[in-house]
Amino acid sequence: MSTDSSAKASAKPAADAATSLKDRGNLFEIATKQIDKAIKLVNLDPDIAQILAQPKNELIVNFPVRMDNGKISMFKGYRVQHNNILGPYKGGMRYHHEANLDEMKALASWMTFKSALHEIPFGGGKGGVKVDPRQHSKSELERITRRFTAALGSNIGPEFDIPAPDVNTNAQTMVWMMDTYMNIVGAGDRNSVRGVVTGKSVTAGGSHGRAEATGAGVVHCITEWAKDKGFNLDGCHVIIQGFGNVGSYTARLLSQKGAVIIGVGDVGGYIANPEGINPHKLGEHVSKNGTVAGYKGAAKIGRDEFFGLEADIFVPAALELEVGVKEANALKVKMMVEGANGPTYPEAEDILLAKGVDVIPDILCNSGGVIVSYYEWLQNKRSEQWETADVLGRLEKRMKQTYQQVRQYATAKKCDWRTASYAIGLERLQACYKERGIFP
Ligand code: GLU
Repeated sequence: MSTDSSAKASAKPAADAATSLKDRGNLFEIATKQIDKAIKLVNLDPDIAQILAQPKNELIVNFPVRMDNGKISMFKGYRVQHNNILGPYKGGMRYHHEANLDEMKALASWMTFKSALHEIPFGGGKGGVKVDPRQHSKSELERITRRFTAALGSNIGPEFDIPAPDVNTNAQTMVWMMDTYMNIVGAGDRNSVRGVVTGKSVTAGGSHGRAEATGAGVVHCITEWAKDKGFNLDGCHVIIQGFGNVGSYTARLLSQKGAVIIGVGDVGGYIANPEGINPHKLGEHVSKNGTVAGYKGAAKIGRDEFFGLEADIFVPAALELEVGVKEANALKVKMMVEGANGPTYPEAEDILLAKGVDVIPDILCNSGGVIVSYYEWLQNKRSEQWETADVLGRLEKRMKQTYQQVRQYATAKKCDWRTASYAIGLERLQACYKERGIFP
C-alpha cells in the first residue's frame, strides 16, 4: 500500500493558512474557463480547440524509496505533457503534499501558452511528486528525486521533455535529476544529455541568471507598466505573497528601484512594516527558518489584514488560487502582477478589473524562468557559457517586447490582458497546426 508523506505533513498545519488545495476547486476546469474567452476572440478552429483542451500524455508513477530509518515509503509522481507542436515539452517539477493530476494538467497547459506567447520553441509540461519536502532529510529528498527520475525513464529527455525547478524544488533537485538521467543513458551519451533539465547550478552546466530570471521578468513587466502609466516606482508600496524563488528575487529587484516592501506572507504567516521590510535580511531569515513568520523587522498580521494593506502593487508569488472574491474585494492596489501560476480565480479577476486594478497575467509576467531555461538549453546544446549580462539583457528585451505586444493587442481588441496573452499564443499554435496538419 502506498504511504506517501502527506499523512505526516498534515500533522503540522500551517499557521493562518488558506484552505487546502483540494478545497480550492478543480484547477484544470478553471484553466479551461480562463482560455474560453480567448478561443472565442480568435475564432479558434474547433479541431484545434479540441486538441488543446486535453494534454497529450498524463503519466503517474508510484515508486518506492528507502527512508533514513531503513523503511520503505511509496511516493506518487506526475508528469503531464500538454502539447509539443512548437517544441519539446517544457516545465517545472514541484514537490507538494497536495500535488494532484488536475493541478498538473492546468500547469502544463499554461506552459504551452507561456512558450507560445513568448515565441520560445518549447511545448508545455508539468510534474512533480506528492510529498512535503519539509518532512524529509536532504538524503531522503535526493533518493526521492533520483528514483522519480528513474521511474520517468525515457519519458523525459533533452529533445523530448525538459523539467525545471518549480514550487519547493531548486537547482540541487535538477542536478540530481540530471545526474540520474545521465547514468541511465550510458557513458557515451552522458554529456550530450546535460540539457535534460534546466535550472541546474552553474557548476553542473546551468545558466548564469537563471536563479533570478522569474523575479527579473516580473520586475521588467512592472517597469514597463510604470513607464506606460507615468508611475514612479521609487517609494511606491508593494505587498508580496510567497517568498520562495519568485517572491524573494522580485522583492530584491524591486527594492533596487526604490520600491518599499510593506507586507509579505507565506505558508507560515504574514508580516507587515509600513517603513519597509529589507528583502535581503528577510531572505536570510527565511533560509534559516523556512518561513517569513517570526521575522524581527516586521509585525505579525493576519491573512485578511495583509490583503487589505494600502499598497500600489501586489505580487502573488505563492500557490495557485490564493486570490478569491474576498481577497479581490479587500485589495487596494493599482496593479497585480502574477508571479505565481494561476493565483487568481476568474471571478476575482472580474472584480479587480471592475475596480480598475491592472492585472498582468502569469503567462506574460512569470515567464522569465522558462525564457532563461531556453537560453540554458541552447548553451548546453552548443557547449557554451554565456555571461550574466548577456543572459539578463536578452531576457529583458524579450520580456519587454512581449509586454508591448500584449498591450497593443489588448488595446486593439478591447480585451483584458489575460485574454490578449492567450489569444496571441493561440494564434501561433493555430498557425502551426494549420500548416502541419495532424498525422496520419
Ligand atoms: N517552473 C517555472 C514556470 O512555471 C519554470 C519552467 C521552466 O523553466 O521550464 O514557468
